[in-house]
Amino acid sequence: MSDSPSNPSRRHFLEIAPATLAVGAMAAYGQTRKEAEQGEHSNSASLPLGKQNAALHDQNPDSEAPPPTDHGSLPSFKYPFSLAHKRVQPGGWTRQVTVRDLGISKTLAGVQMRLVAGGIRELHWHSAAEWAIMLYGNARITCIDPDGRSFVDDVHEGDLWNFPTGYPHSVQGLGPDGCEFLLVFDDGAFDEYETVLLTDWMAHTPPEVLARNFGVPAGAFPPLPPEGRYIFPGTMPGPLAADQKAAAGSLGASRQSFDFRLMQMQPIKKTTGGEVRIVDSHNFPAAHTIAAAHVVLHPGGLREMHWHPNADEWQYYIKGKGRMTTFAAGTRARTMDFAEGDVGYVEQNFPHYIENTGDTDLAFLEIFKSSYYQDVSLANWLTHLPPQLVMDHLEISQETLNKFPREETVVRP
Ligand code: MN
Ligand code: MN
Repeated sequence: MSDSPSNPSRRHFLEIAPATLAVGAMAAYGQTRKEAEQGEHSNSASLPLGKQNAALHDQNPDSEAPPPTDHGSLPSFKYPFSLAHKRVQPGGWTRQVTVRDLGISKTLAGVQMRLVAGGIRELHWHSAAEWAIMLYGNARITCIDPDGRSFVDDVHEGDLWNFPTGYPHSVQGLGPDGCEFLLVFDDGAFDEYETVLLTDWMAHTPPEVLARNFGVPAGAFPPLPPEGRYIFPGTMPGPLAADQKAAAGSLGASRQSFDFRLMQMQPIKKTTGGEVRIVDSHNFPAAHTIAAAHVVLHPGGLREMHWHPNADEWQYYIKGKGRMTTFAAGTRARTMDFAEGDVGYVEQNFPHYIENTGDTDLAFLEIFKSSYYQDVSLANWLTHLPPQLVMDHLEISQETLNKFPREETVVRP
């Protein structure tokens, strides 16, 4: 790239652009003044070809200008649902993010689903347990337990449900505008398109067997779609109590609840930085293979430095903007940016923290394939050791150590 005194405007541009980038990076990512000055003089961070895929570029500032503490080759731990294939049918749509999309997500997979009012996610079950959160609207869910007792309930925004593996269930959108929800399965290789569908099974059963099984005349069943219905428009359900009574029959309703009112629960931690709710088999017994934390970080809030001894962490970003840094030992650390609809993942025992980088609340889920939630707080650890041991490691004063939070706060400050 040539430059000359005879072209002052071009020269001015070439000198100023890298400096602007470096100063912005210094403020945003804590790069040192020395590095910013080096960037200013070396033109190192410039983009001669401009932004490549500008929308993605702007959404991933920590890939474009990584914090100087990031280092080494840590595989991507982010996959946006926006990149997932969407299956659309009359009645709604679905898309999934599994280990086939996000290579490290071996223990859990996620599905987004939309059902219009009356739209039915067909009666079915899975080879994995299903954990869910309603993100918009209203639905009626059904399930049956192995005693043959039914569960029918209406769920609303913020409600959870959990259907253990092999428990057949359905979801139907209610008024006024159906629903949209997130499903999480305790198997990274899960495939939402290979669930056991009622109509798929019946379409692959001889009509005379169906007739004998149900004690009805041959020909009572019209032909079913050979690939099953999966999602289809249905008849809007009537009052909940009537459906519950009809489904319970003489056996009675299930003694177990398969849903949970998350937002009616008090946060287990609430600070000026945000709040967290934890739901696992202790307070939601149906969720005996999937534990969850729902975290809200206010602007400037930090999900404190911590790790999980018991399981990998699958994340879903519900709203807002944030970034997560994961440290993977051996000098490896990487920061990635997250926004609404993104999946994140942290392997068991890898330390990490999450910052709200936006000017609105950041809300996200931490999901674990475990019957219980467990984490270790760095601050709590360092304040429950012989103090001199910590001071020797970090070369800090007793005064500094005394300022550390002496318990797990989850959310800082
Ligand atoms: Mn299901
Ligand atoms: Mn975590």
